[in-house]
Amino acid sequence: MRLLVVEDNAALAAQVRAALEAAAFAVDAAADGEEAHFLGSTETYDAVVLDLGLPVQDGLTVLRRWRAEGKTMPVLILTARGTWSDKVEGLNAGADDYLAKPFAMAELVARLQALIRRSHGHAQPVIRCGTLAIDTTRQAVTLAEAPVRLTAMEYRVLECLALHLGEPVSKTRLTEHLYSQDFDRDSNTLEVMVARLRRKLGEQMIETVRGAGYRLAAPP
Ligand code: CA
Repeated sequence: MRLLVVEDNAALAAQVRAALEAAAFAVDAAADGEEAHFLGSTETYDAVVLDLGLPVQDGLTVLRRWRAEGKTMPVLILTARGTWSDKVEGLNAGADDYLAKPFAMAELVARLQALIRRSHGHAQPVIRCGTLAIDTTRQAVTLAEAPVRLTAMEYRVLECLALHLGEPVSKTRLTEHLYSQDFDRDSNTLEVMVARLRRKLGEQMIETVRGAGYRLAAPP
């Protein structure tokens, strides 16, 4: 899953990025409102963490512009402690959730995972496909109850397929969700990840749908 983190405090931004990368997210960062608006309008994100107090353009304006443009990605806003009106204004502007600073990184990670699951219509943290179970809270995968060890990149591909269970996901879309912006997007990498997942989960678990991409499906 790929996230945009918008925060002008460099130390906090680095802390948030480290926590999210440790939870297997690909992370892009923006430090002012204009850059944030540009990235959110032109790139594909599974969710956005948006600070409200930003240079150039404030977070609420950025959020209103995205929503006016029809951008529907879940947005979690960061508000200063005790600024109740910020929270209300943010939710009215189209935010999906909020956290007041200071916050625990574990809470931010859990809130984002819940937002992303809900935006894909999965209220439960564990997605099942036949004997395969993907626990999106712990990033843990089991096959017939036995743990399967995956790299962060392999996990991201599998999670993206699981969130679209039963429908094909295009290679472009998968690649977009795999990498942060500054990563060299080599399409061969996706094929390598899919081949590795097939070796670990069984060839039939990930179908190639001609012209449409890959689909996670329980083998018959
Ligand atoms: Ca700020």
